[in-house]
Amino acid sequence: MSEMRSGQATCFLCDQNLGRLARWLRILGFDAEYMQSWNEERVKTARLENRIILTRNHSLASHESAVLVRSDHVQEQLHELAASVDLKAGYRPFSRCCVCNNLLEAVSREEVRSLVPEYTYQTQERFSRCPSCTRIYWKGSHHDRASRIVSTIVSPGMAT
Ligand SMILES: [Zn+2]
Repeated sequence: MSEMRSGQATCFLCDQNLGRLARWLRILGFDAEYMQSWNEERVKTARLENRIILTRNHSLASHESAVLVRSDHVQEQLHELAASVDLKAGYRPFSRCCVCNNLLEAVSREEVRSLVPEYTYQTQERFSRCPSCTRIYWKGSHHDRASRIVSTIVSPGMAT
């Protein structure tokens, strides 16, 4: 079932201690799977898929293709990662569900009218939906805040 990915796509498997990092990688647009406990089978599959395995555990980081994440804070973790992995290549912010890791689909305003707050419907032009959990996404104030965080990660020199 696992189809080989091209070596170009940067995708990840985050270990049990890196749930927040997985979420942020998804916000950045990366395919980031998360495992709730260390699972050798899952790690093996991830390797076949050319996933970069991210772990907080020193002994597991000796695994081939695993990267040790040192910081406890998600923003620092992203900076650490940006230092060793080219995050610009797969960077497509807000294209993926941060909960399920699925790519979002564009949906029309009319389709989501009854599903979002009236104010949001009135003030937003574009919406997208996760095909799995059906969560609706739009560019709200959270999006602006996230954009600022994202921009400091991808181009740290631009941070103010
Ligand atoms: Zn989802």
